[in-house]
Amino acid sequence: MDEKIALAAEKIKTSKHLVVFTGAGISTESGIPDYRSQGGIWDKFKPIYFDEFMSSRTARINYWQQRLDMEKSLSVSKPNAGHLSIAKLHELGILKVLITQNIDGLHEASGIPLEKIIELHGNTRRVRCMRCKKLISWEKAKQLIDAGDKAPVCPCSGYFKPDTISFGQAMPVEETRKAVILSSKSDVFIVVGSTLLVQPAALMPEYAKNSGAFLIIINLSDTPYDKVCDVLIRGKAGNILERIVKQITP
Ligand code: NAD
Repeated sequence: MDEKIALAAEKIKTSKHLVVFTGAGISTESGIPDYRSQGGIWDKFKPIYFDEFMSSRTARINYWQQRLDMEKSLSVSKPNAGHLSIAKLHELGILKVLITQNIDGLHEASGIPLEKIIELHGNTRRVRCMRCKKLISWEKAKQLIDAGDKAPVCPCSGYFKPDTISFGQAMPVEETRKAVILSSKSDVFIVVGSTLLVQPAALMPEYAKNSGAFLIIINLSDTPYDKVCDVLIRGKAGNILERIVKQITP
């Protein structure tokens, strides 16, 4: 393990175009469950597809109930050692861009400016009208729910929905395009806490690898890229990233 950490640190330190790609696993140490691990969100809830949300009030009410349940952990969560270590890479001027599948906003809270973050699946701390596209804050949406509307509606009659990408919903075009370009340009690409099963987000390491990047995976369970990566570290993101960054910090 020490050798792998030293090699990863050396590659990161000398990289010219470092891309970090994170999934739900980086936030489990902040108390936010991932989807697929035992005890994860899919053990508790069934996913609601975008067309169900748009066509059924019952589905919308269920969706908002799931969002309220997530708020229990989200409202008390703080960036952990993993988020803070990536923020340190930004501070050191090494991080080119952070691509995340996460919707929890913890990377921004860790001190990485939004311009350096690509949120591929949106952010659940914002809420968007599905008709006029207006954004409102989570707090505003919560006020509407508390006032009795279990599936809040915009004054334009569009349905409000957390500003995240549901199953069956189109990916954000600009974010996806930027993520593909920047992944393809990377010389070192780190995956942290992702099963790499959700497409097209999970194709990013492939774009990086095909362009010759050094691929590092830090994850507790298997991914489809384990066999092709250059360094595979099975361990908790917070501890491993902290150890790597310690070796880089002057
Ligand atoms: P996933 O749930 O499919 O997989 C998480 C991976 O992280 C697993 O392989 C697990 O072994 C690993 N893991 C868990 N804790 C870890 C730790 N402490 N250190 C290292 N690895 C750890 O997550 P995914 O691949 O990101 O995809 C699921 C989708 O779920 C994403 O699209 C994302 O939008 C959404 N999601 C986001 C959040 C969040 O924002 N925090 C939470 C749940 C789901």
